[in-house]
Amino acid sequence: MLAFTFVTQVATAQEKEKIQELETQKELRQARQVNARLDSAVRFLDDGEYEQADARFRYVFANMKSIPSDLAYHFGKNSYHLGKYKQSVDWLTKYIQLKGTSGQFSKDAAAWLKKAEEALVVQRQSESAKVAQVLSRDYTIDCGPSAKVVCPVCNGSTVVVRKDYFGDKYSTCTYCNKLGYLSCDDYNKLLRGQLKPSTENK
Ligand SMILES: [Zn+2]
Repeated sequence: MLAFTFVTQVATAQEKEKIQELETQKELRQARQVNARLDSAVRFLDDGEYEQADARFRYVFANMKSIPSDLAYHFGKNSYHLGKYKQSVDWLTKYIQLKGTSGQFSKDAAAWLKKAEEALVVQRQSESAKVAQVLSRDYTIDCGPSAKVVCPVCNGSTVVVRKDYFGDKYSTCTYCNKLGYLSCDDYNKLLRGQLKPSTENK
């Protein structure tokens, strides 16, 4: 009886291992598929096929757990070409927040962001485009290996300046805990409006 139990336990362990292995393989296959889609999205963007690129970017969004910063740049640029300027500003701003001035696409991102912001002003005045937009706050952003982002509330200064009737008022940033940066987790919460300011510094 004891020996029998032992055998079934071994068998279950082996089965579990097998299932685990199959799941890992499936995940790898999916990851490869998503990456292939991302590559082709960027190619379509470069070729000026923005709708085609958009469809592939959306597939990637739906199937990737964490959005890499380069995707924020490419999608922001593609959104500009589709006339979705709010969406474009949103993602390009995200890229610049994540990469600062040292990213591979930082210069280009800043240039496209400027164009998108200008176009957005014009678009808002005309109130013509009421299209549904894909916004970054709906996704988890991958902050890269450092897993830190310069606090967008105080721009890393840890001090927030508020202008009021009596002039400038300085107060300690209540989001980054006097650090000037946010953990990736908090950054993603901030994007969703879920990061609560701390009250102790008030
Ligand atoms: Zn801050």
